Amino acid sequence: MKTGIMGGTFDPIHYGHLLAAEEARRNLGIDRLIFVPTGDPPFKRDITPAEDRYAMTLLATAGVLEYSVSRIEIDRKEPTHTVDTLRAFIKSGINPEDLYFITGLDAMLSITQWFDYEKIPELCTLVTARRPGYPVSGIENLPKFVRDKLKYIEIPQFAISSTEIRERARDGRGIRFLVPHLVQIYIESNSLYKKI
Ligand code: ATP
Ligand code: MG
Repeated sequence: MKTGIMGGTFDPIHYGHLLAAEEARRNLGIDRLIFVPTGDPPFKRDITPAEDRYAMTLLATAGVLEYSVSRIEIDRKEPTHTVDTLRAFIKSGINPEDLYFITGLDAMLSITQWFDYEKIPELCTLVTARRPGYPVSGIENLPKFVRDKLKYIEIPQFAISSTEIRERARDGRGIRFLVPHLVQIYIESNSLYKKI
């Protein structure tokens, strides 16, 4: 049983996230995908409360048999790091050989800045999906022990970010078809990005 983990701020979750995760799942024969929204940062930044981001992630993934959403980072009191989250999933009984951590290329190219990143390739296989604006050649600059555990996948390119969706929502420009319908409704009914 292969498990894929897709972490993110998901502020809000959009079709770029869903497409990257799903393509990784199909390409690598992953059986189940767990979306892991990050917790609230210790010092308040301009980030939507975790409960709203969690709710939107649930709405975006509801009804897809292979998908679930984990509260592990939201419920942790301390700041969370990917390495801790992977360790927690392994502790819960998943073999490192069956654990896949999925990111977009921008995130993967910054892996050497993550807390204890040297430990991460021992804990899982890394999967990274191409993202518009980030050069695939950047992978060559990652340390060899990272590259050895890294699978790169080409996916249909969707040049969208949560940042752009927040700006569009704030300015009253449409967000329809950039996020799942229920996420759009949630953002609009809660006036989520109106005052950023
Ligand atoms: P923000 O603009 O707030 O940084 P974001 O769109 O980058 O938001 P994140 O929550 O930061 O979304 O990203 C979570 C994960 O999803 C990261 O691994 C990121 O690389 C990946 N990702 C986000 N958008 C895309 C996209 N359009 N295509 C492929 N991967 C993506
Ligand atoms: Mg981002």
